[in-house]
Amino acid sequence: MQFDEFYRQSIDHPQLFWAREAERIHWHKPFEQTLDFSRPPFARWFIGGQTNLCYNAIDRHLAERAEQTALIAISTETNSEKNYTFAELHREVCAMAASMQSLGVSRGDRVLIYMPMMAEAVFAMLACARIGAVHSVVFGGFASNSLATRIDDAQPRLIVSADAGSRGGKVVPYKGLLDEAIRLAQHKPAHVLLADRGLAQMPRTLERDVDYAPLREKYLHADVPVTWLESNETSYILYTSGTTGKPKGVQRDVGGYAVALAASMQHVFCGKPGETYFCTSDIGWVVGHSYIVYGPLIHGMATVLYEGLPIRPDAGIWWSIVEKYKVTRMFSAPTAIRVLKKQPPEFMEKHDVSSLKALYLAGEPLDETTSSWISNALGVPVIDNYWQTESGWPIISIAKGVEDKATRLGSPGVPLYGYKMAIIDESTGAECGPNQKGVVVIEGPLPPGCMQTVYCDDQRFVDTYWSNFPRQVYSTFDWGIRDEDGYYFILGRTDDVINVAGHRLGTREIEESISSHPNVSEVAVVGIEDKLKGQVAIAFVIARNAESAVSSQQKQALEAEIMALVDKQIGAVGRPARVYCVSLLPKTRSGKLLRRSIQALCEGRDAGDLTTIEDPTSLDQIRAALQG
Ligand code: AMP
Repeated sequence: MQFDEFYRQSIDHPQLFWAREAERIHWHKPFEQTLDFSRPPFARWFIGGQTNLCYNAIDRHLAERAEQTALIAISTETNSEKNYTFAELHREVCAMAASMQSLGVSRGDRVLIYMPMMAEAVFAMLACARIGAVHSVVFGGFASNSLATRIDDAQPRLIVSADAGSRGGKVVPYKGLLDEAIRLAQHKPAHVLLADRGLAQMPRTLERDVDYAPLREKYLHADVPVTWLESNETSYILYTSGTTGKPKGVQRDVGGYAVALAASMQHVFCGKPGETYFCTSDIGWVVGHSYIVYGPLIHGMATVLYEGLPIRPDAGIWWSIVEKYKVTRMFSAPTAIRVLKKQPPEFMEKHDVSSLKALYLAGEPLDETTSSWISNALGVPVIDNYWQTESGWPIISIAKGVEDKATRLGSPGVPLYGYKMAIIDESTGAECGPNQKGVVVIEGPLPPGCMQTVYCDDQRFVDTYWSNFPRQVYSTFDWGIRDEDGYYFILGRTDDVINVAGHRLGTREIEESISSHPNVSEVAVVGIEDKLKGQVAIAFVIARNAESAVSSQQKQALEAEIMALVDKQIGAVGRPARVYCVSLLPKTRSGKLLRRSIQALCEGRDAGDLTTIEDPTSLDQIRAALQG
């Protein structure tokens, strides 16, 4: 079928379209109604249907592929490699589920998972899904303060963690960070379940902390029945950054998510059951949820869980995995490819990557040089796909599984089935013409798989995403243009979110962390262009002792202290690349920081519209700081 026809069906007859796609998964009880959009913007999919993500990811395949590989857990950090068949994965997940139940976890309870890329993290996610608990995975790179905010919002009964992770051969102790986060949080979990990898000392808190190894032993042969969930019950919460310092809990359903992933595996990622899928993301991000854990498994594919850097022990490591496991579909981020591009080509050339059919890249804008380089080097098409934590699966791409439509350099493609999109004027909300810049929006109802709401805050969901324009539409908070042929080009965020190496961070979060330094009275953080990471954070601070001239040594010391502070509170991903001292920050007369002007100056551009600026000399300070 032509993609245009396929797309039209999804927009003109969404109920028929998605009812057909829903046949890709197992329903314990069929749904009575495909869509309920009686309370916009809240969309409910597959009402009355009962299903389970874990059943669809594992149990459903047991009849046909019990002895086929399901999970390939490789760590170049701990030099370990272990494969699990679907039968073995079933057993491990049941053992984890029974352990959780023994600690009092039941349907609807939240379980926070703060773990490195180890197999137990995947078992924990699937175990939650199996028993109807709601998981909230927090990226292992986040430090105590970020973790504490999420603990307070999700209020987990249980936290699953480990002694440590490892990055580039350096041990990153998780338990200490977790203990500090629990100390900072108002909410205290009843239990902490710990996987001990023997990497770091792990002090235990009596009664609260429980070791996983003996529980696993005890429950290794437990048969934990699947808890059938109504399609609209919650499967997970995943926190993401926005304009405010408080992260949003993106809440997702069960049935809609399963159907959306199954459909995307078919139409967008085009994998075949029995083949191997390799997504290099982290389980702490949405890409990891959808395309390391749930998507490939629901589709009956083996999935690779890789802990380690792309260049260690050498820059051929990913390609050796592709060769060994005959990976057919690979998913990564542009930053990682830019890192590999700097390495000598022989690392790539010495591996046979002929099994690979396509490389999918997402998470940040894909530049043409990187795209062409990797496509030529691998001899496969590169498929850019644009989406967000909120959508759970690609919004814009080329659905090669439907029609082999041409890709266009610099564009992720066209709106995918289910997404009725437009580009509208920021102030009037009127639709923009071809090649006119505006905000990328989606008309409701959002298709299956997209966020249901902000966890425990329906109003924030409506206010944040649906109330920005005269007409009720979902704002992606991305600038974009559409060309004459309907291809979209994404031009960066409209809000204060920055994207560092594909990781989404709120400048407000980083500012809040920096403000907690005793010698900082004001701060502005902006994201500026970086050749390797896409963007990096830059901070401008007003020191409390700014009135007395600050020496360059004092400035350097402050910069180092601020970097260490952000490392400790948020994690290294949020650490500003530079911290500059100024005595005035550019603000509007109403006191709003003019981050866009600061960013423009940092990138060597014009400061833009300054009609509302309070004191133009503040811009001179930014210029001077950058030059100094
Ligand atoms: P996250 O929620 O962390 O996945 O971040 C989503 C944001 O990343 C989007 O709103 C975009 O700003 C950016 N993004 C994701 N994928 C792409 C892409 N393929 N091209 C350009 N920007 C992207």
